[in-house]
Amino acid sequence: MNPTNEYSLFIDGDWVASDGDARIAVINPATGEKIASVADATDADIDRAVDAAAAAFPAWSRRTAVERADFLLRLNTLIQRDRERLARLLTQEVGKPIREARGEIDFAIALIRFAAENARRVEGDIVPGSRPGEKILIEKLPHGVIAGISAWNFPAALLARKVAPAIAAGNTIVLKPHELTPITSLEIARLVAEAGIPAGVVNIVSGGIPAGQRLVANPAVKLVTMTGSTAAGKKIMAAAAPTLKEVRLELGGKAPFIVLADADLEVAASAAVEARFLNAGQVCTCNERTYVHEAVHDRFLELVSEKMRAIKVGDPLQEDTSMGPKISAAELEKVERIVEKALQQGARARIGGGRLTGGEYAQGHFYGPTLLTDVTHEMDIVRGEVFGPVMSVLKVRDFDEALRLANDSSYGLSAYLFTKDLGVLMRTATELNFGEIYVNRSLGEAPQGFHHGYGDSGLGGEDGKYGLEAYVRTKTIYLNA
Ligand code: NAD
Repeated sequence: MNPTNEYSLFIDGDWVASDGDARIAVINPATGEKIASVADATDADIDRAVDAAAAAFPAWSRRTAVERADFLLRLNTLIQRDRERLARLLTQEVGKPIREARGEIDFAIALIRFAAENARRVEGDIVPGSRPGEKILIEKLPHGVIAGISAWNFPAALLARKVAPAIAAGNTIVLKPHELTPITSLEIARLVAEAGIPAGVVNIVSGGIPAGQRLVANPAVKLVTMTGSTAAGKKIMAAAAPTLKEVRLELGGKAPFIVLADADLEVAASAAVEARFLNAGQVCTCNERTYVHEAVHDRFLELVSEKMRAIKVGDPLQEDTSMGPKISAAELEKVERIVEKALQQGARARIGGGRLTGGEYAQGHFYGPTLLTDVTHEMDIVRGEVFGPVMSVLKVRDFDEALRLANDSSYGLSAYLFTKDLGVLMRTATELNFGEIYVNRSLGEAPQGFHHGYGDSGLGGEDGKYGLEAYVRTKTIYLNA
């Protein structure tokens, strides 16, 4: 970044000007101010980045796993050193409260650390051969050049989640952050260079959908890992078909949040509010539909209302702010439309129900924390992802009804369940069709877990040992003397 906040592209270990003139303005969603401008990478820029990654691959993949891990640990030391600066940038480009931004940087550090610690645990097999003396080696080897394409809601964590395991396993990568939130990623690129990670191993290019499309189409890219909307994920999968690339897609969610009669209501209500309003409701694992047993429904609403009234919406750089704006005017309008439709269909707004205007909200995309009651399963709000600060509460008779409604969704990323009933808990593994289930706790994945969704929520999965395995392919060698 230079003093005017004009960013170029990070390719082959260097900052290079784009081949074209187009720029993308980065806007602070809390204030409407332009905070930076980044290059809008052209096809030629993308190809140049992929060429650099391809050229860096042979030497990088021949390094030992420990050497690669050491580079990641050096990068982590620098991210830790710059934690506060990066967190403030995150807040300015995403609009998330500063305390959440620090949490995201810490999560990015944890993901990089996990990848570094596990670089030397990429293990194959030796199995007996079919001929006398033969051994069959099944080896796990890096793919080559990886394309990473990320969403705007967690730019730093998504970068870490893709870049760290990719390069730990011996691949090289070209990462394209979302066009709305490229700055933190480009600042981390600066630290990639400072950490001495060899040129071309990590390339970070800003750009919009066309830049992403070129990355997917480039024949030298062997695997595409994308986090974003289901609609874009499906297009990427189709676009990857002509060159038969492997595709990993981490897409949208519609998490059910089930509260049964025996739940600790205090814990459940706190978790429901946190899992709905974190990052202004813009988390793929957010509580998108809250199913509450009829016996505790009214008490639960009282507890949730009390906790929601304590949410302080405002300038996300202030320490005591607990919720910032939506990312953009388009996203704000989308939430408005969804809530209006729900109200028309019979839901009631017990709290909120509209955007916040005037005063400190005048220039930003603020939507008030909203609690909708009397929501029924037939309403549109229960089907598509809201991705905003709107909690929809549905009353259920028992676990069987909750289970049936929860599973009646095209998405299958996360689910929440609050109960002490062992019999019910035992049924979740086989009957609740989601890739990630939080039992008696709020959201937040662990680096050693496995974050993945079923159905419209994606393909593949990230984190932990299974996430690392995504970045290697298998080679079988029939070894004879
Ligand atoms: P988006 O789909 O608009 O964009 C995601 C990325 O894909 C961006 O970098 C964009 O430029 C790129 N892109 C879009 N269309 C493309 C195409 N045709 N070809 C190539 N690249 C293309 O998503 P978003 O609005 O940034 O993110 C919000 C969505 O992401 C939500 O649905 C959310 O649930 C999901 N998400 C999922 C996870 C997860 O781990 N499952 C995590 C975070 C966000």
